[in-house]
Amino acid sequence: MAKAFSYPVFKEDRCKGCALCTTVCPRDIVKMSDRINKKGYFVSTVTDKSACIGCTFCARICPDVVIEIHREKKEE
Ligand code: SF4
Ligand code: SF4
Repeated sequence: MAKAFSYPVFKEDRCKGCALCTTVCPRDIVKMSDRINKKGYFVSTVTDKSACIGCTFCARICPDVVIEIHREKKEE
């Protein structure tokens, strides 16, 4: 049987480190990282892709359209 799973993908170079996305995740898996992008900002990241429920809250709150939610099918 095929199951769907989702996870966020970050276009890190667009991120301005505002941390808004870290405030809305119901699974608390969106965090600021210790990586710095080309613009000199700390970027956000996902700490556990497998815990994502695909709600898209993180993508929708980002003012800079950094985050896309990818959806894939997993065959079982
Ligand atoms: S899509 Fe929802 S559950 Fe997944 S990382 Fe974003 S806010 Fe969290
Ligand atoms: S809301 Fe967008 S710009 Fe702000 S930290 Fe998150 S990904 Fe970066």
